[in-house]
Amino acid sequence: MGHSFTCHYCEGQIPLAGQTPGGRATCPHCGVQADVPQAPGGARPPAPRPSQQRPAVAAVADAGNTALLLGILGFVLCQVLGPFAIMKGNQARAYAYEAGVPVPGTATAGLVLGWITTILLILTLGLFCMIFGLAALGGA
Ligand SMILES: [Zn+2]
Repeated sequence: MGHSFTCHYCEGQIPLAGQTPGGRATCPHCGVQADVPQAPGGARPPAPRPSQQRPAVAAVADAGNTALLLGILGFVLCQVLGPFAIMKGNQARAYAYEAGVPVPGTATAGLVLGWITTILLILTLGLFCMIFGLAALGGA
């Protein structure tokens, strides 16, 4: 094989000279941005097989989705759910580290919403205490 690879769009040969494996190259035939394969000769890097992924990956996504759901519900409906969103988000992060996958965005979003909601909850409780306290003082 020469030092070129096949364009995925027009199937023309793109010279590999000066291209970084895993980077992008402009096809001289059709001008599209083509992915430079890791191995020269047009061979595509093998896709990861599902069997290579640990089962915990599904649990990571589940926990992340639950964290986000609790975060949204807590934020919109019931602030008491805020701490549970944090718990679930931390669980999703722990699962992600365990499974060796990136922490899902849903878990991070759930955590952020959970914290905002929990802070709002604390502020609300504090405000209630203050109002009741002032009312008690005023009534005395
Ligand atoms: Zn092309």
